[in-house]
Amino acid sequence: MLKIEHIGIAIKELSASVPLFEQLLNTPCYKTETVVNEGVNTAFFQTGDAKIELLEATRDDSPIAKFIVKKGQGIHHIAFEVENIEAEMKRLSALGFELLNETPKNGADNKLVCFLHPKTTNGVLIELCQEKK
Ligand code: ZN
Repeated sequence: MLKIEHIGIAIKELSASVPLFEQLLNTPCYKTETVVNEGVNTAFFQTGDAKIELLEATRDDSPIAKFIVKKGQGIHHIAFEVENIEAEMKRLSALGFELLNETPKNGADNKLVCFLHPKTTNGVLIELCQEKK
C-alpha cells in the first residue's frame, strides 16, 4: 500500500458538515461528487498528502444511511492507495481477507475501489483505491 489516500467520515448532512470541516481544516472543500451506485454524495478536502471524504446518504438503503442508524456520525473507512488494485485484491483475498466486491468498482474522485469486510480487519472498513489511468 502506498499511503493513506483518504479517511471517509459518515455525516448526516453535507450542508451542515462542509462549512464545519472548512472551518476545522481551514481549507475549502475542493470537490463534491455523487456516486449513484453507492447512494452517496461526497465532499473532499485536501489535508497535506491525505484527503478527508465526507459521505452523506442519498437514500435510506445506502450503506451510509445504515451506518449512521447503527453507529451515528463518525469515521466510516480508511482508504489506502495501491499501485495495482487487482493484484492487491488477489493478495489480500489469498490471505483470508474478505473482499466486499469481487472486481474493482467505480468510486468517487476518479478511482477504482474495493472494500474489505470489517469482520476480517478488526472492525475497520478498509478501502483500496487506485487512480484510474
Ligand atoms: Zn472512500
